[in-house]
Amino acid sequence: MTASSNPHLHVMDHPLVVHKLAILRDKDTPPHEFRHTLHELSWLLAFPTFAALKTRDLDIETPLEKMTAATMATPYPCLVSILRAGNGLVDGFSQVCPEASVGHLGLYRDHDTMVPVSYYTSLPSDIARRQVILGDPMLATGGSASMAVDKLLEMGVTDIVFSCLVAAPEGVVALHEAHPTLPIITAALDRELNEKCYILPGLGDAGDRIYGTN
Ligand code: URA
Repeated sequence: MTASSNPHLHVMDHPLVVHKLAILRDKDTPPHEFRHTLHELSWLLAFPTFAALKTRDLDIETPLEKMTAATMATPYPCLVSILRAGNGLVDGFSQVCPEASVGHLGLYRDHDTMVPVSYYTSLPSDIARRQVILGDPMLATGGSASMAVDKLLEMGVTDIVFSCLVAAPEGVVALHEAHPTLPIITAALDRELNEKCYILPGLGDAGDRIYGTN
């Protein structure tokens, strides 16, 4: 299966999304503008990302009459950031869904082997009962995302959505092969990875762009 024919892949197609992505992609966009635009984009990305959120019926009263309204089910979801760039995305998600708790998974890519290494885990103790939105701006090789999903599955989580800004076809295929039913939401599906596993055309190192480190 190719990346674009993956039925579990949702690529956003919206003029505001591509406009904001163009700002992020531009190498001359400074970190403060990058962070601000990423924040705005994460609100737009939240729509498809949270589309499968569970709801429950609640009896309420409007100023005019009684009704049964759908509200977010409990326990509330957990937004899990793959450090460090994931924070840029998950911060925005947590503003749209402030009821959610926020977890962190520290994974880095070994620059020689390109294999992800886990160095930090912080998740709520009842994580297994929650829907999880896993966020990392860049889906490159799929190694970190796949390892993060493995960790969540080991902890008993059954409902996971992966959300990113830019995905490489190689990463989509690898993540799909490792986790065939995992929904992958992205603002863009780019062309390919380069020899250093950066996404082309991409936006560079998302963590460096967010935090002004390079
Ligand atoms: N991580 C990034 O931040 N950028 C890429 O292009 C690939 C992985």
